[in-house]
Amino acid sequence: MILYCATTNRGKLREFRASGLPIEPLPNLGDISVPDETGETFEENAIQKALYYGAFTAEYLIAEDSGIAVEALGGAPGIYSARFAGPGATDESNNLLLLEKLRGVENRKARYVCAIALVASGQALVTFRGEVEGWIVDESCGSNGFGYDPLFFYPPFNRTFGEVDPELKRRVSHRAVALAKLAKWLA
Ligand code: IMP
Repeated sequence: MILYCATTNRGKLREFRASGLPIEPLPNLGDISVPDETGETFEENAIQKALYYGAFTAEYLIAEDSGIAVEALGGAPGIYSARFAGPGATDESNNLLLLEKLRGVENRKARYVCAIALVASGQALVTFRGEVEGWIVDESCGSNGFGYDPLFFYPPFNRTFGEVDPELKRRVSHRAVALAKLAKWLA
């Protein structure tokens, strides 16, 4: 069995592979144009991406949508995490904007969310959600991981995800939680 995934994000791909599931990037993914993300939830976006990319293979395919939801910002950036700082946003500009928006804010609670959708033969089968809770630090700490990791303090590690060995993060991340549910479902 092979599970194709529709991501070119190296950080996500490493976490997918760490699950031990037989996950490979969809061949020729780079030649396929990127679909619009018009869903209003992580699950809707994951299903949208999975159905779109699933049309390019007869094998099982997973797509995921993920992001960070900050309590004091009413759950923002949420599904807009990748483009928080607007068109052309980078991890750096997104992180700067998040720090800016939380300057002086006491409630720093945040959660990472990941929704994974599984499709086969053009049909959406099921979605899995993983979450991890933590808070947003005052300034960027560490250079490991990707995206918001240097800002996300994870209490069980007493460090940000940017400061820990990526291998450790991969074991506990929102993606790992969702992947574990997927593995259980497949078994
Ligand atoms: P997506 O590609 O639309 O799912 O965008 C997800 C965005 O959420 C990424 O670009 C990151 O900014 C953020 N994100 C999701 N998962 C993680 C993570 O594990 N670490 C850091 N940032 C993440």
